[in-house]
Amino acid sequence: MSYFVRNLRRFAGELLEDPARVPAKVSTALKVKLKSGLEEALGASAVGDRLAARYRGRGLVLMFHEIHDDVEGNLRMGCSPEQLRRVLAALKSEGRDIVTPDEALARLADPQAKEFAVLTFDDGYRDNRIRALPILEEFGAPMTMFVPTGMVTREVYAWWLGLRALLQRHDEVEIEPMARRFRLADAPSRNAALRQITLWIGTDRIRAEALKPTFDRHGLSLPELVAEVAMDERELKDFATHPLVTIGGHTTSHTFLAGLDDAAAYKDIADNKVYLESLLGGEVRHFAYPYGTEGACGEREAAYVLAAGFATGFTTRSGQLFPAHLATSSLLPREDAGFAYMTPAQMGSRLNGMRRALVTHFADPVAGLR
Ligand SMILES: [Zn+2]
Repeated sequence: MSYFVRNLRRFAGELLEDPARVPAKVSTALKVKLKSGLEEALGASAVGDRLAARYRGRGLVLMFHEIHDDVEGNLRMGCSPEQLRRVLAALKSEGRDIVTPDEALARLADPQAKEFAVLTFDDGYRDNRIRALPILEEFGAPMTMFVPTGMVTREVYAWWLGLRALLQRHDEVEIEPMARRFRLADAPSRNAALRQITLWIGTDRIRAEALKPTFDRHGLSLPELVAEVAMDERELKDFATHPLVTIGGHTTSHTFLAGLDDAAAYKDIADNKVYLESLLGGEVRHFAYPYGTEGACGEREAAYVLAAGFATGFTTRSGQLFPAHLATSSLLPREDAGFAYMTPAQMGSRLNGMRRALVTHFADPVAGLR
């Protein structure tokens, strides 16, 4: 077994690492295919568990966004209640307790503590209360919701909601800053367009802002779109009193923090804490970066999160939680579990740690800046 495991690991590592083996143009597509193939083959298998053993930490943080009954119609910007239920059932059958972020920190410091998972929901969507909370209540599972000030006050530049509405409501759309025209005949073409435009934006604030004239031209009001889906102050205050709910920070403006100068980046983080604490009348100790990739937040942002008084900062770097993370608590990894449909193997690869192994080409199991 160990011979097989060693060689498969080397083979996978080399193929994923060495783009010179395939022409540059196909290498990215091939790597993606290879990774998802490996994930499918190994995500929920004994071999996968063995390969990923190093990557299995003491805890696992999962990220959700919207919860939709119609996932396709909402362009896969959330997952179904059934998926949340499947995740909860899988965590339960693995014997992991679902805990709050404070309990997670305590368990990381205690070698005897049981394995755990933390469930996080970003952005303050109203459907979290309607569709997620009843399921969480059934399982007695706590949840942490990371809320940007601007979602509650409707002042956020929610380009992702504008983009979804634009693609849902038209059969053909021109995205001028991209110099692209998209024909939108059905759900798959709308989904494909959303992925391409989102990929084009990447972590570039200027590109996201360049969509404004397109939204205006189509008469889309972002504050109205935000009000349709996000909790307001009264709803959030009420939601926060639920015994299973912890509210965390998610910046004021929900922008790519790396694109802001020092003072603006710090202010965007710190003001959100002040806002939430005065609205909710209690300490807000935990934080998630609005975009948690390497390009969107790094060392500077991690220092600001601690300086603002938060105990944790959750990124979207892939990986599980290890005791070593107590020293880098403002760069904690999270695995996404809430966009579109997850196959059993994709879920398995998050649970056993294989996902980080594949994403990082078998790099350090303890995620931080990378
Ligand atoms: Zn967010």
